[in-house]
Amino acid sequence: MTYVVTENCIKCKYTDCVDVCPVDCFVEGPNFLAINPEECIDCTLCVAECPAEAIYADVDLPEDQQDFIGINAELSKIWPMISARKEPPPDADEWVKIKDKRHLLEK
Ligand code: SF4
Ligand code: SF4
Repeated sequence: MTYVVTENCIKCKYTDCVDVCPVDCFVEGPNFLAINPEECIDCTLCVAECPAEAIYADVDLPEDQQDFIGINAELSKIWPMISARKEPPPDADEWVKIKDKRHLLEK
């Protein structure tokens, strides 16, 4: 089992999740964060911290977000680790309301 960042994070990237992760398993890309499934210890702490409600256990993923298991695994191999919260993009509060944005994911 692992936890997975899903579509709602795209262009929001609030990074609140990062501060609570005890094993620093988040990685950061241009407009999305991913969880390294090899490092996540399933502590669940990040789920409640995410203002975009973007984090799920892999076993609880909505049907239309299943591909984010592979996306998190793939990106966690190439993106750098992030271990401290930082300011979100200035338009994050606008993007958090938009549901259909997976085509905007920058790798
Ligand atoms: S708190 Fe949620 S929206 Fe923000 S970076 Fe983490 S997963 Fe993405
Ligand atoms: S479930 Fe825990 S270990 Fe896994 S990413 Fe979230 S905070 Fe980190």
